[in-house]
Amino acid sequence: MRAADCLPVLLVGDGVIGAAHSGRKGMYVGIVPATVDAMRKLGASRITAVLGPYACGKCYEVPAEMRAEVTAQVPASYSETSWGTPAIDVAAGVRAQLADLDVEVIDATACTIESGSLYSYRREGPESGRMAGLIKLAAR
Ligand SMILES: [Zn+2]
Repeated sequence: MRAADCLPVLLVGDGVIGAAHSGRKGMYVGIVPATVDAMRKLGASRITAVLGPYACGKCYEVPAEMRAEVTAQVPASYSETSWGTPAIDVAAGVRAQLADLDVEVIDATACTIESGSLYSYRREGPESGRMAGLIKLAAR
């Protein structure tokens, strides 16, 4: 999957893999819990998720009304920017969703806006590049 500020989530468990592009909207509608549910239906019981680079909760500024709407659905995503305005922390919200589902998390996050070595739509605009998250099942 490709992303530049949205949270990439790669999942593996018992020979089943999944990938979810979870930005604010994806977190709000529960794309990661839906992916875990689909993986469990395919036989995965113990699942591990890797969270990749995203626009962090200290940088991802949103209007106050948007934060109120999103955090009513995913309270753990409530955040404030480093300059004191309303923000959303998508990884914090997804971590809470995964904890509720008893999924182990490997945190490989970094902030795309703060790091000049990562692509960021917010920092660079529509011409920004994208990072790719890749997961593959090995042949048995
Ligand atoms: Zn940041």
